[in-house]
Amino acid sequence: MGWLSSPILKCSANQAILATAVFIVTFANRAYFRNLVETFASSPWGHLHIGSLGLFLLCALILFLLIFSFRSLLKPALVFFLLVSAVSAYFMDTYKVMIDSGMIENVLATDRAEAVDLLSARLFIYLLLLWLLPSVVLGMTRIRQESAGGALLSRLKLAFVTMLLMTALVLISSAFYASFVREHKAIRYYMNPLAPVYAAYKAGKTLLAVDDAPLEVLGADAHTPGVDSDRELVIMVVGETARADRFSLNGYERQTNPQLEKESVVSFSQVDSCGTSTEVSVPCMFSVYGRLSFDGHDGHPTENVLDVLGHAGVNLLWRDNNSNSKGVADRIRNEDYRTPESNPDCDVECRDDGMLAGLQDYVDSQESGDILIILHQMGSHGPAYYKRYPPEFRKFVPDCESNQLQDCSEAEISNAYDNTILYTDYFLAQVIDFLRDNDDRFETAMLYASDHGESLGESGVYLHGLPYWIAPDEQTHVPVILWFGKNFDDVGLEALRQMRSESLSHDNIFHTLLGFFEISSGIYDGRKDLLQISRDRTGG
Ligand SMILES: [Zn+2]
Repeated sequence: MGWLSSPILKCSANQAILATAVFIVTFANRAYFRNLVETFASSPWGHLHIGSLGLFLLCALILFLLIFSFRSLLKPALVFFLLVSAVSAYFMDTYKVMIDSGMIENVLATDRAEAVDLLSARLFIYLLLLWLLPSVVLGMTRIRQESAGGALLSRLKLAFVTMLLMTALVLISSAFYASFVREHKAIRYYMNPLAPVYAAYKAGKTLLAVDDAPLEVLGADAHTPGVDSDRELVIMVVGETARADRFSLNGYERQTNPQLEKESVVSFSQVDSCGTSTEVSVPCMFSVYGRLSFDGHDGHPTENVLDVLGHAGVNLLWRDNNSNSKGVADRIRNEDYRTPESNPDCDVECRDDGMLAGLQDYVDSQESGDILIILHQMGSHGPAYYKRYPPEFRKFVPDCESNQLQDCSEAEISNAYDNTILYTDYFLAQVIDFLRDNDDRFETAMLYASDHGESLGESGVYLHGLPYWIAPDEQTHVPVILWFGKNFDDVGLEALRQMRSESLSHDNIFHTLLGFFEISSGIYDGRKDLLQISRDRTGG
């Protein structure tokens, strides 16, 4: 690295900050400007307003970088924020995602296999052009030394001029800025790298807060009926990235549920998810707090419905072919099915149906008590949909065979996605077969619920994870399916069928799970238990 110590360029710290800020605003903010153009280009003075917001971002970035303008810290800080900008620009441009704290928590929780899905040659090009290239130029530049007083004075001057310019921008078109803040809040999530840095700060704060707080016990009074001679065996399947409108059971014109259509299932088509990401939805589904009060992030961590069922003596098993249980199964038996050591059905990746392997042995080994098994699917996890199904489920073609969704047509993406639903249909039918095999010994039932949906290019949006208040239905409407074995007769199947297009949500899952096992507890609310609602309506 000898050449690094023989600089060929010279500049002041202020110039280095200015040059870096101009570079980032110009080259790493395509998503920001694309959104501005889409929103304002056709309005009067639109282009002036776009220019004004571009300048505003430049000023904000200069002020931000000035924080790090201490002598030896400046260069590493600039190189670091160039890196953050390059990676964020890649994700914003490629997947049209916006980066908020929920997204950062997703990224932190992403495991290696998922990360590999997201890597690509395109990312390396972004890193080369937006990070390596400017970093090398910075490396070859000597930043002029100034006296401490002189440095402080020139930083203050730059800060002052920048703030003056920002104030002028806002004052000149104050009406525009006021309506921008009120009506186009979402666009600020694209300000690179300020949005990702702020999101990381927020995510870090909430993650640290959760670790400190003690766990609150829930439903310690829970118990099953004293004279319950029938044993329940329930399997809950936690789906991944499945959207309700892609199930033919819910009226999708393509036959994506050939197997389930042969079963006597109840499919609910208007269920709202708790969040738009696995990180939020999976813990929330099992939480007593509904979507509106779910604050597993900065509130007190509280035991979930599995803990309550544990207090009542139900035997619990979680099997995972996704990433992990997101903390839900931390206190119960928990098995990983993502490697060939445990999962016998692995090709390019381990398949969901491998989670059924050896499951009969587990059921047989539970000599008494009810059983709840949770199977956490890989499901339709994107963007590499084509990896989510074995060749025999490649029914809708041509299918997108890339994780670079912009390389595929919308039809190809859609086809690949529908094939993943077809595979989930097969998997759920396998689960039902397994339960039917145990029908003589148990009251059996299956509950399937996906964690969140997925955008497949509608309005140019892909994947999931948008803030809930702007997330489209594609990301928040999830399939939920119930199936009951022949001995599970204490349920109003017709009444359930009539609820198919009623508005339900993940909030119903907590109490429905308690309802399956007829749990008595102060925490149980029959009004949210689908089974109890059906009984009430049947008049039973
Ligand atoms: Zn998910």
